[in-house]
Amino acid sequence: MARTAIRPVDGALPTPSPESQTATPLLAIEDVTIGYQTGNGYLTAVDTVSFTLSAGERLVLLGPSGCGKSTLLRAIGGFLKPASGRILLNGQAISRPGPDRMTVFQEFDQLLPWRTVLGNVRFALERGKGLSRQDAEPIARDWINRVGLERFADAFPHTLSGGMKQRVAIARAFALQPTLLLMDEPFAALDALTRRRMQDELLALCEETGHTALFVTHGIDEAVRVGTRILAFTPHPGRLAASFEVPAAARVRGTPAFAALEDYIQRTVFANPEVGND
Ligand code: ADP
Ligand code: MG
Repeated sequence: MARTAIRPVDGALPTPSPESQTATPLLAIEDVTIGYQTGNGYLTAVDTVSFTLSAGERLVLLGPSGCGKSTLLRAIGGFLKPASGRILLNGQAISRPGPDRMTVFQEFDQLLPWRTVLGNVRFALERGKGLSRQDAEPIARDWINRVGLERFADAFPHTLSGGMKQRVAIARAFALQPTLLLMDEPFAALDALTRRRMQDELLALCEETGHTALFVTHGIDEAVRVGTRILAFTPHPGRLAASFEVPAAARVRGTPAFAALEDYIQRTVFANPEVGND
């Protein structure tokens, strides 16, 4: 499929912005291409993608299924190696996973089933930060409280709802104070009402802590709600099509600014019926 054309800009709306180049970006993705060897030959999942992420930003990778969002996030997490290009965290090439990049996945089964809520968060602190059980416990309890699960600290994952499991995964990720929070559609499998509440809660936590986050979603509304900047991707192969700044005023659901930005992204990037057909 040809690269999606960006339509002319409507006067008052934000324009797709060129990638900002700061001197020392927290994360630099430089001409990254990633592919998979499949039964049908080599498949390019991410095609020559470049962008940077500065400290304190919440960058959203937005696009339909198959545009390489998870592949890119896995490479940033250190689980996959690019075929070409470089991924630099604070100027250093990423070569393996580490507690400086904590990932929250979509799947509800990312917790250790034989450990309680407290055990899951505490264990991550012990392993990831080298803390003693004694030192890890109050930090774990604090984060469990901050995601509203104080009454469930001793519960096992199988007794929790999907939303509660995702809260534990979020508490665990924040507890390690990573340089970069990676979130791969963490709310996609939740019901719509829970999803909205979780978006709001995540936004509040990020704003309170100032954490830098890279958030993947296929929902334009979710991207506008949680992001400070949005990178829109198109599939087959996964390419970066446009970048949008999200002004704080557009982050408030139900406002004309929110609806206008959502609509604008839809029209400029995803109006082509070929985009979104996996
Ligand atoms: P997204 O997260 O945007 O839905 P993915 O990164 O999961 O996209 O996938 C991008 C492309 O790479 C898709 O065409 C997908 O089928 C393919 N792909 C993903 N993972 C693998 C894999 N392990 N082996 C082969 N192909 C894969
Ligand atoms: Mg994915």
